[in-house]
Amino acid sequence: MNWEKWIYSLEDKFGIINNNGTENKMNQYTNPGIERGEIMNNTIIELQDVKKIYKMDGVETPALRGVDLKINKGEFVAIMGPSGSGKSTLLHMVGALDRPTSGKVFLDGVDISTLKESELARLRGRKIGIVFQFFNLHPTLTALENIELPMIVIEKDKKERQQRALQLLRAVGLEHRAHHLPSQLSGGEQQRIAIARALANEPEIILADELTGNLDTKTKAEIMNFLLKLQKEKKMTVTVITHEPEIAQYAETIIHIVDGRIKVGG
Ligand code: ADP
Ligand code: MG
Repeated sequence: MNWEKWIYSLEDKFGIINNNGTENKMNQYTNPGIERGEIMNNTIIELQDVKKIYKMDGVETPALRGVDLKINKGEFVAIMGPSGSGKSTLLHMVGALDRPTSGKVFLDGVDISTLKESELARLRGRKIGIVFQFFNLHPTLTALENIELPMIVIEKDKKERQQRALQLLRAVGLEHRAHHLPSQLSGGEQQRIAIARALANEPEIILADELTGNLDTKTKAEIMNFLLKLQKEKKMTVTVITHEPEIAQYAETIIHIVDGRIKVGG
């Protein structure tokens, strides 16, 4: 493949490769009805020819086959693609949750391969908030305690933790559910708790896997508007995986992935 040509066509179509500080060309995907935060033209995450091959019982599964990607500070990105195409793997790379088999991942200009596991965990804990596909709430902890968890990781003191967790519960409209266990909450409520937890350490980046699967239309809109507000008011960088065009339309940049590769024009 002619990589140079490929990258230029990517730039034209999506504006996601942006080496020279020019404005993103996202008009074709921008929903004019949505008022947006300013996209700052500096890269927060960059992937260079990232490949990921999973090895299990001697079987190799290539999940990413060479992905180049730049996400700017304050950008709202949607990742779309069929099941098994590598979306979750890509999100794990973007969130530095896992290391690539080859290629490079830069988080705020730092090549993550140069970091020790403990340094990476700390950087991730401060910079990145993740909403997992199945929420991954701790079943024996209350809503409030679940939100406190990431703050324990960065050793925030107890009082500060509880105050912040309460404030976040309020922000997602669930202060009356503080002492409920995840099993006592609806799917939409669990999702909001997972979002509050992802925001606990005031991350610069929020990543969400299959954000609004199985939610009703009203809850979906509430969650997406909440994320837009974070992007606009806190200049947060937001990346969501979705298979729903109604959700993707909230994003400025839509990345289509097929069979482990970014598909241009699609
Ligand atoms: P998507 O999120 O688009 O459904 P994934 O990124 O989860 O796709 O998976 C991409 C491919 O990698 C699939 O073929 C999947 O079966 C495989 N895969 C994902 N995670 C693992 C893993 N931990 N071990 C082995 N194979 C995996
Ligand atoms: Mg997935």
